[in-house]
Amino acid sequence: MMQWSKRTQSSWIQLAGHQGNVRLSEGGEVLKRFCKVEDVCLQALMSDALCQFVPHYFGHISQDGERYIRLEDLLSGLKHPVIMDCKMGVRTYQEEEIIKARTNANVRSDMYQKMVKVDPAAPTAEEHAKRGVTKVRYLQWRDDSSSTSSLGFRIEGIVMGNGKVLRDFYKTHTEAQVTETLLSFTRRQVHILEAYESRLQALSEALKESTFFYKHEIIGSSLLFVHDCSSKANIWMIDFGKTIPTPEDVQLRHDVPWVEGNREDGYIIGLTSLTSLLREAIKQ
Ligand code: ATP
Ligand code: MG
Ligand code: MG
Repeated sequence: MMQWSKRTQSSWIQLAGHQGNVRLSEGGEVLKRFCKVEDVCLQALMSDALCQFVPHYFGHISQDGERYIRLEDLLSGLKHPVIMDCKMGVRTYQEEEIIKARTNANVRSDMYQKMVKVDPAAPTAEEHAKRGVTKVRYLQWRDDSSSTSSLGFRIEGIVMGNGKVLRDFYKTHTEAQVTETLLSFTRRQVHILEAYESRLQALSEALKESTFFYKHEIIGSSLLFVHDCSSKANIWMIDFGKTIPTPEDVQLRHDVPWVEGNREDGYIIGLTSLTSLLREAIKQ
């Protein structure tokens, strides 16, 4: 694992998630608001073939009445880090969520507002009239309008080296759009693109050896791409808050489409498309 020197609170960057959910401790660890599901996954991952791809997990602590998971800071020692959070999988909601949401016909105005902000033409005439959408409709629209459903991953956000945060990727949908984004994220530096591509290949090998992988439905987890001007480049698996063990007799393939009930997450579908789009970017 790469060892990078300590950095300060002022250089801390949180790309995805509710702001404040994840922060840097004074000792330089990343503290993430405690979630039992994630805590159990991280513990298991520390002794799995994937451990070289996951931030080191140091257990948990309580601070000011709040519990936190303690993690290695993946940006430590980077100079002006450039970061990209890619949410993996062909869906970003759990099967249970969709079942629960389906029985609830309530229309949500907050979700309608979010939808209109991204694409005023997305709601139907009826949804516009109600100024609301159901949760099921919102969750599925979000995955279908981004590259989640089609490519098996979506770009959640990017921080450029000057600290500029880009989060407007909801409609980054086609292979050409993603390739273009990969090129601008890396500023067309071939050695960075190549380092990312070989790390993804190593991840793909490690996934084959992982017992964790075939026994978990991995939803809403991200690959965090990080590089800096000194050409250090790495990719890490983060965010296991919605990663749940499969029932005793079920092993997932991760490379077949999701049909409700089969629990497949399409993680490998996403990894394969990301790898081939990186290769495409290297050629350009
Ligand atoms: P969401 O579920 O909405 O994606 P979350 O609250 O589960 O968000 P994460 O996705 O785990 O939070 O983390 C949010 C962001 O915090 C990441 O995109 C990344 O920028 C940063 N981050 C998380 N873990 C680390 C880490 N170990 N080192 C450095 N940065 C991290
Ligand atoms: Mg996340
Ligand atoms: Mg999360």
